[in-house]
Amino acid sequence: MVHDVKTDTLKEKDIILVKPGEKVAADGIILEGESYLNESMLTGESKPVQKVKGDKVIAGAINGNGSIKVTVSHASKDSYLSQVIKLVDDAQKSKSKTQLLADTAAKWLTIIAIVAGIGTFLYWYLTGQSLAFAMERMVTVIVICCPHALGLAVPLVVAKSTALSAKNGLLIKNRTAFENARKITTIVFDKTGTLTVGKFEVSKIVSLQKELNENEIIRLASALEQKSEHPIATGILQKVKDLSISIPATENFNAITGKGVEAAVEGKKILVVSPGYLKENNLAIPEGFTANDTETVVFVIVNNQLAGYIALSDEIRPESAEAIKTLKENHIKSILLTGDNNKVAKSVSDTLGMDSFIAEVLPHQKLEKIKELQSKGEFVAMTGDGVNDAPALAIADVGIAVGSGSDIAAETAGIVLVNSNPKDIVSLILFGKATYRKMIQNLIWATGYNVIALPLAAGVLYKQGILLSPAAGAVLMTVSTVVVAINASFLKVKK
Ligand code: ADP
Ligand code: MG
Repeated sequence: MVHDVKTDTLKEKDIILVKPGEKVAADGIILEGESYLNESMLTGESKPVQKVKGDKVIAGAINGNGSIKVTVSHASKDSYLSQVIKLVDDAQKSKSKTQLLADTAAKWLTIIAIVAGIGTFLYWYLTGQSLAFAMERMVTVIVICCPHALGLAVPLVVAKSTALSAKNGLLIKNRTAFENARKITTIVFDKTGTLTVGKFEVSKIVSLQKELNENEIIRLASALEQKSEHPIATGILQKVKDLSISIPATENFNAITGKGVEAAVEGKKILVVSPGYLKENNLAIPEGFTANDTETVVFVIVNNQLAGYIALSDEIRPESAEAIKTLKENHIKSILLTGDNNKVAKSVSDTLGMDSFIAEVLPHQKLEKIKELQSKGEFVAMTGDGVNDAPALAIADVGIAVGSGSDIAAETAGIVLVNSNPKDIVSLILFGKATYRKMIQNLIWATGYNVIALPLAAGVLYKQGILLSPAAGAVLMTVSTVVVAINASFLKVKK
């Protein structure tokens, strides 16, 4: 029996099941199955490595298309800690362009301070003023120019916006992605699990072969689905449980991402696949095959013969319609991109009032579609939850993963919607804009006052009787820092 437990309760000799696209929860040895694992976040090796029975796997690695059982070799706490450290490290290292801009500005301001200071000193001293007067001017210039406020201008906004976004269900992994959110012109949405709840319920089981009844169709399918992470799998397993059917064992399980799953069960070769897969392999879609517009259908193939099909229904998330509507009001196009069939895609797209939809797309086609939009000059965000969305999430200008989805999607995206609420995308864009505005305002405050204060400090208006004392310079500099801090604290999330 497989059941969910908390990662930190895992101990030595426990056996864990790692489904396609999932993260390995603890270090261990493969007991059963084989797959390709991506260990890049741990070893830096970007090519997935093949792992078979007896091989060691490390916590944090992401599973490919196979399903594996792993004997845990030591409590997960040890390896988990190292991952957290890495995450924090990455977050701190990830500086956005605006932050880099502030760093550069601070560097220049320091150089200007020194050069202007020396220049001022030389000017006054060489034009016959006393050494004391020339020194005082130099000190005032350097005090004024000191990039104090500038050093705080952006970090203060970043700290405030990170805290606010976390409170509002946005996990920002990549600051650049967040600041770029304000430039989005098109958002591509995955359907299952993103715009819909991703909770499938079996609505119909149909047998197309005399020797197999409905229960047998779903029994065979469930054997494969117990190893899959897909929302369809969860739906089928629930039905089998309701029918009190016991699930047989599988061998050679493989997920055909975006199309279905395959494996051997009781000596038979079984596939559970999409209508698209049937077309591709020239298998006729059965006559009289019915499903209404909102149902997703998967076909069960036994030893290369179409044996039956299972229809499942899913619900659109209640927040989806409002999210799409608000995007429209903000002149952002929304496009539906799904691996599901045409009918369902059209129905969802029409119901939500989206700009267009493309159905029956495979993972690499999702990626190509994003590239195509980018080449047309669109600034594209991708929102998805599944293994099949990961390539598109990586290539999009802004990758947004749905929190309830697969580990690989969350790992690839720059931003994770913790509450899986599509409406949070709208807050993300508006908040990204507000944050950026605050940063620019602060940069202007922090550098701008130099334009007036610096010449005054240097003594440009000396002949008119205006001269800034070093003390006044210090006060001005502090005021600009306070202004920058107060301005940052006024950042708000608009809903
Ligand atoms: P989406 O893009 O809407 O998230 P997917 O690309 O994940 O959809 O899946 C596309 C289609 O592939 C599904 O509609 C289904 O027909 C088939 N499929 C994917 N995974 C499975 C699975 N585990 N079992 C059965 N069918 C699957
Ligand atoms: Mg999906």
